[in-house]
Amino acid sequence: MDTPAFLDRGRPDVPDMVVPRGVTPFHLEGRPVRGRLVRLGALADALLSRHDNTPEVNALAGKALALVAGLSSALKFQGSFSLQVKGDGPLSLLAADCTDAGSLRFYARSDEEALPALLGEVATPSDRELFGNGYLALTVDQGADMDRHQGIVEIVGDDLAAMATHYFETSEQHACWLMLACERTSEGWRSGGLILERIASEGGVVTDDFGDGASRVSAPEDEDAWETATILARTLTAAELLDDGLPPEKLLNRLFHEESLRVGQPRALAYGCRCSRAKLVDILGRFSEDELDHMVVEDRIVMTCEFCNVDFRFSREEVGPRSA
Ligand SMILES: [Zn+2]
Repeated sequence: MDTPAFLDRGRPDVPDMVVPRGVTPFHLEGRPVRGRLVRLGALADALLSRHDNTPEVNALAGKALALVAGLSSALKFQGSFSLQVKGDGPLSLLAADCTDAGSLRFYARSDEEALPALLGEVATPSDRELFGNGYLALTVDQGADMDRHQGIVEIVGDDLAAMATHYFETSEQHACWLMLACERTSEGWRSGGLILERIASEGGVVTDDFGDGASRVSAPEDEDAWETATILARTLTAAELLDDGLPPEKLLNRLFHEESLRVGQPRALAYGCRCSRAKLVDILGRFSEDELDHMVVEDRIVMTCEFCNVDFRFSREEVGPRSA
C-alpha cells in the first residue's frame, strides 16, 4: 500500500529542480518524420554529480537519461518508462527511468576492479566496451494492476544510440535515428539528444513507439524525405546540442528550416527520485523480526537509495519489535 502523502516525510536532501523546456517535440509537415530534441541543462549536473562515478560512466549515464526522457515523452502512459542495460563488462548495470511527469533518475553499478583495469588500457572506452555483452530492455510500468510492456534485445552496436536504434529496428520494427551526447562543460555536466522517428505519411497509420504493428505505407518520396531529415540531423554537433545558450527552436530551425518544421509544446523534466523514510520503513516492515535483527550494524539499520546516493538510518525499534 502506498504511504499517504501527509505521512510521506523524510525526503532526502535532493535538488528540487525543474527544467521547463527539457523536451521539445517537432514534426516536419508533409513528411514522414517526427522528433524530439532533449536537453537536460543543469539537471544533468544535478543528477550525475550526486554519484561518485567515473567521468566515463557519467557520460554514458547522461546519455541514458536523455534517451529515456526523449522516448517517454512520445508515449501515452502513466507510471514510469525505464531503460536497463545489463552486460558482462565493467559497467554491469545501468538503469535510468522517466515518469509520465518527466521525473528522471538513474543508477549505475560498476565493477571496482574491472573498470579501473579497462580505463588503464583504453583512454576513452566506447559504450560497448563499458557494457560488454548483454541485453538492453525498455519497460513501460504503469503500476501493479496494469500490463507491463517490455522489450528486450541483445546489446548490438558501439554506442548507446546505436543500441537503441537496433532495439527499435528489431523489437518495434520502427525506423529511428538518434544522437545522444553528454559531456562535462564549463557549466558542469550537460546531456541531450535528438531523436527522429519515421512515421507513416498521409494515407498510412501513425503509431507510437510502442505501436500495435499497424501496417505502414511507404512511398519512394517518403524514403527520400526520411533520408534528407537524417542527413540534416547528422550536421548537429555535440557542442550545439549541449549549449544552454542556444534555444531549442533556434537549434531546430538551423537543422530543418527548409523542411516545413513545426515545433510543438515543450515539456518539463525534473529531478525525480521518489524515495522517503516512510517508504523504506514500509519495505523493512516486510522482513521478519529475526531478519531485521541481523540487519543491525552498530545499533542502526542502514538502507541506501541507490538513485539518490543517500543513506537512510533507522533504529531497530523504528522498524518493528525485536524478536524475543
Ligand atoms: Zn532516492
